[in-house]
Amino acid sequence: MIPEEKKHKKTESRKKWKVSIRFGRMQMVLAAFMALFAVVYLNQRNITYEARERMIGLLDQEEEETTAETEAEGVTTLLLGEEGDASSQSGCEQMEAILSQMRVGYELCMEQDFQVEDLEKYDKVVLSVTHLDLLGERLLDLMDWAREGGNVMLLYPPESGGLLQMVADDFGIAMLGDEMARVEGLHFKEAFMPGGGLRDFLITDPYDSSLAVRLTEDCRVYLESSGEYAVPIIWRREIGEGTVVVDNLGFLEKTYRGIHCAAYTLLGDTCVYPVINGAAFYIDDFPSPVPGGEGKYISRDFGMDVSTFYTQVWWKDTQNLAEKYGIRYTGMVIEQYSDQVERPYERNHDVTRYQYFGNMLLDGGGEIGLHGYNHMPLCLKNFDYQGQFDSYKRWNSYEDMKAGLTELIDFCGEIFPKEKVQTYVPPSNILSEEGRAMLSEDFPEIKSIASVYLPGDMAYEQEFGVAEDGIVETPRVIAGYIMDDYTRMAALCEMNLHFVSSHFQHPDDVLDEDRGAAMGWEKMHENLSDYVDWLYTAAPNIRNLTGTEMAGAVQRYDRLRVEREESPGHLNLKLDGLVDEAYLLVRINTGTPGKVSGGSLTKQAEGLYLLKAEKPEIDIEIK
Ligand SMILES: [Zn+2]
Repeated sequence: MIPEEKKHKKTESRKKWKVSIRFGRMQMVLAAFMALFAVVYLNQRNITYEARERMIGLLDQEEEETTAETEAEGVTTLLLGEEGDASSQSGCEQMEAILSQMRVGYELCMEQDFQVEDLEKYDKVVLSVTHLDLLGERLLDLMDWAREGGNVMLLYPPESGGLLQMVADDFGIAMLGDEMARVEGLHFKEAFMPGGGLRDFLITDPYDSSLAVRLTEDCRVYLESSGEYAVPIIWRREIGEGTVVVDNLGFLEKTYRGIHCAAYTLLGDTCVYPVINGAAFYIDDFPSPVPGGEGKYISRDFGMDVSTFYTQVWWKDTQNLAEKYGIRYTGMVIEQYSDQVERPYERNHDVTRYQYFGNMLLDGGGEIGLHGYNHMPLCLKNFDYQGQFDSYKRWNSYEDMKAGLTELIDFCGEIFPKEKVQTYVPPSNILSEEGRAMLSEDFPEIKSIASVYLPGDMAYEQEFGVAEDGIVETPRVIAGYIMDDYTRMAALCEMNLHFVSSHFQHPDDVLDEDRGAAMGWEKMHENLSDYVDWLYTAAPNIRNLTGTEMAGAVQRYDRLRVEREESPGHLNLKLDGLVDEAYLLVRINTGTPGKVSGGSLTKQAEGLYLLKAEKPEIDIEIK
């Protein structure tokens, strides 16, 4: 016999089931209706979306100016160069950039001016010297200084023989080969850089760049060449009370800064430097008028025209990737593709696709940025295109150039009335001096420029930072869907130097053979997905930022100054210029972190921690 209560429950649940079926049908009808409504709604003009609070707000310029001058850090590092030597010069240039961006106080001194007595002012010495023989006795004194607690790094392989043989023991070199070794790839023996341990990294254009050495047992090798006969690339050795580090890579270009930075952090017990902590993804020419007709490889692989492909395949895949990892795209708008460079400019009224794509991008937490009224870079008649870019015209006058950008801003304001457009990407990364000045003088709404980090043809090349006029320089580091070895290396290095990823893609990439179109969209998308997967495996907590938020993060990074103090069992930091929160990478070579006050630590790689600082005074216990 079924107890009354149970019976009751049974009928009750059946009733519920019926109700839920009926409700389910209603939901389906409702959902279909809502979907239809959404389509109609999205195609409407003057539609609205909710403007969002930015995750990281922009600081105003005056605030910036008051603190930018304060330099809290004392000088701790001596960078020693050699006059008239090309390698030394490149080494000094890169190391100066690295140290200043790590907010490490340093002094640059040429070998002939270097006196051993000066060493007492420093903790660390970086040798950017090709001919160690020039140092004579002073090199031996320097090694004695290291034994007494100093720290010495070779920034690149010096010329073999002579004095290097004399100090080889100190640097842990048991045997020094006669010839230099060609290093074609890098393998992390210890995963001491974020993302380094996940794969090997190939070197583009390898040459005989590294010393062929066999090391003594007491060296700790962090990085070595990939392949059968491993050449040590970065190693550390304790020598008396101090340490030596050898950076045997030999590539002294901007791309490799992150590796030299990582080598530097291995000197001494700890190393702390501010970072940006952000990943941004820009979509070039998006939204913009879609090219009509067929694309060779799109027809081949998908049997559809370009416009249909963009909507049904490219955007869907691009959106899915964003959803999976929390990416928030910044779309750079082009109003039309004319070559008009003279007022008056006609408004583009064909805006359905702008609204369709733009609103989806905004609903996904993304942002709209400025690219151009058309694709003509901001250059006047005096600009020399050096025979390249045949299709580019120069603006007729300053006023015509200004009116073009004004029209674009009005156009964006009409379609996206609640959106603040504040980020500018120069077409083809070209920006003349006049164009750059115009942005800051005539367009106070523009807060940041996202051009390129790595040098390129005629490109407006940037460093992460705030320019004197208050515009935030937020360069893009990598681009496209090919993801070649050079791109991978650049990404790895920037993860370590600035804890940043900044990628740029163009829907047109699928039409352009130089940008990988022949491999087909599926492969192109796979390449980008593979990069993104590497990125978020390497740094699961990296902040996903839009263009403006990246600018806010760079402002906070730019103004931060760090005072470091080590005492037994403790690392104490004093931060100047802290606004709300800041991020720093902390390398701990001896011991492991314990209690932290004033912030929190997350492990990023072997011996490397991301510090989220919330108070101007931080104490990290070292166990
Ligand atoms: Zn473009």
